[in-house]
Amino acid sequence: MWAEIAGILGISLIPVFYYFVVYNPWAQNHWHSLRTQADYIAQYPELILGKKVACYQCGGTERLDLGLLKPTDYRRRIVCARCKSTLWRESI
Ligand SMILES: [Zn+2]
Repeated sequence: MWAEIAGILGISLIPVFYYFVVYNPWAQNHWHSLRTQADYIAQYPELILGKKVACYQCGGTERLDLGLLKPTDYRRRIVCARCKSTLWRESI
């Protein structure tokens, strides 16, 4: 009987774990509040330098593509490589 209950709990805890730890609604809300690349370009059209887009804080054109919670997260944050300002969000 207890093994059956544990089995039922074990199965039902997987989506709970996924929702709160892997998906993480708080991190999701934060990520979703970041602007997209289209928003960034619309907000700072003067920062487009040919094929590159410059940072609004320091003017650097190198950037890093970081996962939100882990390196392989599909929710990406694009940050300036020089000053680490978050530029926009992307998903893969
Ligand atoms: Zn910068």
